[in-house]
Amino acid sequence: MNHVDTIAAPGSGTIANAPAATPEECAQLVADVEAYCQEIRPIEEIAYLEHEPNPAIGELAKKYNMLGMSMPKKYGGRAVDSLTYARALVRINREGTGVRTFFSGHTSIGQYPILKYGTEEQKDRYLPASCRGDCTLAFGLTEPDAGSNPLEGTCTWRREGDKFILNGVKYLISNGSVADAVIVFAFPEGSEGQPDRRMSAFIVDTAGDTFEAEALHAKPGMYTSDTAMFEMTDHPISGDNMLGDQGNGFRIAMHTLVSGRLSVASGCLGTIEDCLEESLRYAREREQHGKPIGKHQLVQQHIARIEMMRSTSDALVERAALAKDRSDAAPGDKEELARADFAIAEAKYWASNAAWEAVDRAVQIFGGRGWSELYRPFRHLQDVRVCRIYEGTDEIMQLKIASSLLGKEFAAFG
Ligand SMILES: Cc1cc2nc3c(=O)[nH]c(=O)nc-3n(C[C@H](O)[C@H](O)[C@H](O)COP(=O)(O)OP(=O)(O)OC[C@H]3O[C@@H](n4cnc5c(N)ncnc54)[C@H](O)[C@@H]3O)c2cc1C
Repeated sequence: MNHVDTIAAPGSGTIANAPAATPEECAQLVADVEAYCQEIRPIEEIAYLEHEPNPAIGELAKKYNMLGMSMPKKYGGRAVDSLTYARALVRINREGTGVRTFFSGHTSIGQYPILKYGTEEQKDRYLPASCRGDCTLAFGLTEPDAGSNPLEGTCTWRREGDKFILNGVKYLISNGSVADAVIVFAFPEGSEGQPDRRMSAFIVDTAGDTFEAEALHAKPGMYTSDTAMFEMTDHPISGDNMLGDQGNGFRIAMHTLVSGRLSVASGCLGTIEDCLEESLRYAREREQHGKPIGKHQLVQQHIARIEMMRSTSDALVERAALAKDRSDAAPGDKEELARADFAIAEAKYWASNAAWEAVDRAVQIFGGRGWSELYRPFRHLQDVRVCRIYEGTDEIMQLKIASSLLGKEFAAFG
């Protein structure tokens, strides 16, 4: 599998030997997630219809201690396995892709790289605070001119005394205008045009007027979730805040995206589950031509297809989560990491497209009401399309899957 070489073996920061949650603790998390979802539903609905941010997403997560679900207990996390965490995200995403995206940004691609690559001092500084809800995290890889190929990025860093100084713009960053710290990737200042330049990763505290963030509002969905751009202008950060080894940023980014993609795939399964439940309820209740529309065979066909999208996505998400746990339990094992990367790419690609089909069919079952933000299927339709784009597009997922099977010499781009 040729993508073995594009992902860094994690350093000392592993969760391999950390005490995992007991079955009872996992069950408690499931109960807390359910309570969170029930409490957030009416608040989220109003915020969504008003196209406003929903601060309750984070506040209630704090109340239910959900801000470090997969983090070790020693840092204040709940230490659940990848499958339990994935199932939590499935449930959360039934309340909206925007709600789930907050958790992906904070935990799957925010806390995860700190845990995997951070020094003990960095972990002590950022993980307990982020698990408590005192430090919201984000992941800043994409730039205006560097998306699918982050190596075309132009953000830079330089060392000045006991500080790193960062410059440049990051674009389309989830939690980007609300985060207290962002994992930022940047190249050495002055390395522009050099073929062998390598990016490094940093934990960037966002305080100060040298870090300017702006929420982006021109988007057709995910209204309650923060999508932002930010500019760093000679932005100083602690000289202790490089994440992992100098020059290892690309590999850290690729490894982090494996974690992020599993969260997206899980979220898409949640979208499908909610569309199925809504479709079943509506098809039983709504009557046309003298009977419930659920008795019309063509409506049943939509329901059968949504169910097939659900069951296939469910199987792939479970397989992917188990592969991630095996990889996390074997730090440094490149083959396990490659297997997880592959299984998660398949799950992400499939589930995001399956969700797109499911939302379309659910909207159709709802008829005219389906084409309205007042009903859940259309809100899911507006939100879920981005899942085929962020954290690796459909095209990049297919290239990864195919070239992994074909072999290293078939990489579509190098
Ligand atoms: C709501 C939202 C939230 C996001 N959150 C984050 C975040 O938290 N952190 C972050 O870093 N980024 C985030 N992103 C950015 C996202 O990851 C990028 O948009 C995505 O990776 C695609 O990059 P791009 O938009 O620059 O598209 P491009 O890379 O310009 O791609 C345009 C098209 O060309 C195709 N393409 C590109 N290269 C190839 C190739 N080699 N072969 C075949 N086709 C190719 C793509 O698949 C796509 O169809 C977010 C985006 C959105 C919309």
